[in-house]
Amino acid sequence: MQAWVVERPGPIDGGPLRKVRRTVPEPGPGEVLVKVEACGICRTDLHLTEGDLQPKRPGVVPGHQAVGTVVARGTTDRRGTADQVAAGEGFATGERFAVGDRVGVAWLRGTCGVCEFCRAGSENLCARSTYTGWDADGGFAEYVVVPEDYAYALPTDRPAEELAPLLCAGIIGYRALVRANLPPGGRLGIYGFGSSAHLTAQLASAQGAELFVVTRGEKNRALARELGAAYVGDRPPVALDSAIVFAPAGDVVPQALEALKPGGTVAVAGIYLSDVPVLNYERHLFHERDLRSVTSNTRRDGEELFRLVARLPVRAHTTVVPFDKVDEALADVAHGRASGSLVAVLDG
Ligand SMILES: [Zn+2]
Ligand SMILES: [Zn+2]
Repeated sequence: MQAWVVERPGPIDGGPLRKVRRTVPEPGPGEVLVKVEACGICRTDLHLTEGDLQPKRPGVVPGHQAVGTVVARGTTDRRGTADQVAAGEGFATGERFAVGDRVGVAWLRGTCGVCEFCRAGSENLCARSTYTGWDADGGFAEYVVVPEDYAYALPTDRPAEELAPLLCAGIIGYRALVRANLPPGGRLGIYGFGSSAHLTAQLASAQGAELFVVTRGEKNRALARELGAAYVGDRPPVALDSAIVFAPAGDVVPQALEALKPGGTVAVAGIYLSDVPVLNYERHLFHERDLRSVTSNTRRDGEELFRLVARLPVRAHTTVVPFDKVDEALADVAHGRASGSLVAVLDG
């Protein structure tokens, strides 16, 4: 099969991504093999390719928003060894997907199932969590293997390229929106307006929020206006209830905190953020303003997002990219030339 791999992480323009031929991977116990129809392109793929995130495997295939069809199941008994079962290591026994089912392969790929966080419903904080396209090969390939407990059932009546961006941009944005504590009908600041932000904006607005978007780039600004933002510019003219920082720029954080009402919350959605400048307690934090991070997501976040998307008018604005151009598309993300969601599509 064809696959894109990160040979040596480095600046995107230096060509760290290479298209190579690989053997089709084999699904292990509890895993399914998925033939990829489309895979969304995320800024995290860029961070992995450029080395902002420490590589975990040489020659890894990035891509963690893959939509495809199950073509094979792992053959071995997935309950694990007798010792593992005795230790309660959480091996499920049901088979969730059959050959022919449409599934989504997302960022979160594994958790331990037994630590205090996993047991408390916060598996996103599990120290043994693993990720698609980082710990294991991802979706910028013709085939990808996924543990079926971490795959999502997807509808077959929507185009793959419309569903793909929901698998990370959508899910993380949903979690960020929850973490941002927005009151009903409240004013939400959105800093940076890429793939995740434009989906989150639609989710928030469909639930009654008023949107204040701070972003550079005329394309992003135009999309924000098209999606009904009450304000698009450099500095919101009114105090906000909550804000989400999508831009990977730490210097946005003080600005976002300063624009809040007393008691407001800023959630930082990204996995990577450049350093936050020194904060002034009175200007940025006092009056019970909260600054929170968002770390990955739980599978429940994903299930909740797909339930919401089924009934709310949320639709990814996508630019379809041929599979051969994944490297160029990542460069577009790096240089701010993309708007909405970029999705690589494989032909047949
Ligand atoms: Zn755990
Ligand atoms: Zn992502």
